[in-house]
Amino acid sequence: TLSVAAILKESAERTPDRIAVAVGDDEISYARLWEETRSYAGALRARGVKPGDAVGVLIPNVADFPRVYYAVLSLGAVVVPVHALLKADEIEYVLRDSGASILICAAPLLAEGEWGGALAGVPVFSVLAPGPIEGVPQLEVLAAEAEPIESYVPRSPSDTATILYTSGTTGKPKGALGSHLALVEQTNTLLLNTFDLTAEDTVLGCLPLFHTFGQTCALNTSMRAGAKVVLLPKFSGEAALRALVDSGCTVMMGVPTMYIALLEAAKNTDDRPNLRYAVSGGASLPLAVIERFREVFGVEIYEGYGLTETSPVASFNHVGREPRAGSVGQAIWGVDVEIAKGDLDDSVELLPSGELGEIVIRGHNLMSGYLNLPEESARAVVDGWFRTGDLGTKDTDGYIWIVDRKKDMVVRNGYNVYPREVEEVLSGHPDVSSVAVFGVADDAHGQEVMACVVLTADGEAQPDALLEWAKEKLAAYKYPRRIEIVESLPLGPSGKVLKRELVARYESEPA
Ligand code: ATP
Repeated sequence: TLSVAAILKESAERTPDRIAVAVGDDEISYARLWEETRSYAGALRARGVKPGDAVGVLIPNVADFPRVYYAVLSLGAVVVPVHALLKADEIEYVLRDSGASILICAAPLLAEGEWGGALAGVPVFSVLAPGPIEGVPQLEVLAAEAEPIESYVPRSPSDTATILYTSGTTGKPKGALGSHLALVEQTNTLLLNTFDLTAEDTVLGCLPLFHTFGQTCALNTSMRAGAKVVLLPKFSGEAALRALVDSGCTVMMGVPTMYIALLEAAKNTDDRPNLRYAVSGGASLPLAVIERFREVFGVEIYEGYGLTETSPVASFNHVGREPRAGSVGQAIWGVDVEIAKGDLDDSVELLPSGELGEIVIRGHNLMSGYLNLPEESARAVVDGWFRTGDLGTKDTDGYIWIVDRKKDMVVRNGYNVYPREVEEVLSGHPDVSSVAVFGVADDAHGQEVMACVVLTADGEAQPDALLEWAKEKLAAYKYPRRIEIVESLPLGPSGKVLKRELVARYESEPA
């Protein structure tokens, strides 16, 4: 038996007085966090939440996220995080699909949350409400009256702990089932073999906690280490830099767009944090960003790779080993990452090192399947291998090199163009802050390669100059024929660039 909730309980016993979570000036020790978690769990138990029940959680990065997360898990119930940007009917979908029995919603998000709960027929409880709200009981008030639980309910390793919904690029979002074993093993492995994290560290928790990367890496792994997590309710480069400096953060974890925003913010101040290292994942990190970050902040960014379906980490440039810039590192302990033929539907045939194919993953970190989707689950995991939909190669030292997502590949005049390669070239231009490259439908060429570029604050390059830069460095069929300078790129809930929005925007308004 085991439980993800043991992560918090054990650290509360080992390092009771250390700060677990800080939000602004509010600092909460491990002992207090566990005590408040037990009270929340008591209140939820009194309201009928039982082992195995699904509980929707719509809370941004504030201390109530870990309180509610570990309270639900302590009861043996299942956490269903709801992305903070979802609209009522999307929230309804997640609540209905997961069969959630209640929704716990932060007061500032009640406009959509209460409505989504009503549509799904699911009672809503609030946290962070400044006062009573009719029809929405306050969890804090109930917790003050309830009998706290003694300890967590132990679970079987295969019991579901979380249902994390993928963003649903192709059809409806799918609920990936994360078992207690997958999450606990992943946390232990990251702590023991991958990261270098101790109770002396302060980690910037700017990744959204409703997403797998923030939940596993910024929250669970930091809590297991007994470190302090500084939560940032709303990300901006300025806010992140201020938090890094003011809170004495030693470690940062983020997606590439966050590092790009930090570099821009650093131009306006000489304040620099005392970081030991940084960690990136979730999308490809341009080499130029790694180099600029080293110059400005004096530390390495270690890049890893993973997906919601793999809890998430599959490979990593292990902290402390020499990172190979541009690679997403080696498979983590207990996980196999291989390259397979990409065109086989019902079998997996592994390829030798150096060959390009689809990345497949096997190990303790795999989801147990997609909820209510037996056929999609069977297609996703073949012979124990999870098929990622990402293309890449593996070198003889076991480092994985991602080429791109299969579905993002552009076919221009019959030639394959991988947007990532084009992004890498444009990111290398000194005036470019961030860039997204994608394919748009084109009568003459099938698809045309297009780039949206955000310039640095002092950058002046015009599309023509950027086009020349790309043309010099890329084969004729690859360089983007159309470059637009934009103010910002559309970002999804986890901070990654939403290319499908760009494709839709530019296909509907051709040049
Ligand atoms: P979907 O739309 O399929 O839900 P998502 O980005 O929302 O996509 P996640 O599970 O958050 O889903 O992200 C997984 C994907 O992120 C991977 O399949 C891969 O394409 C990409 N990814 C993760 N880490 C890296 C990395 N280091 N370099 C490049 N791509 C990465």
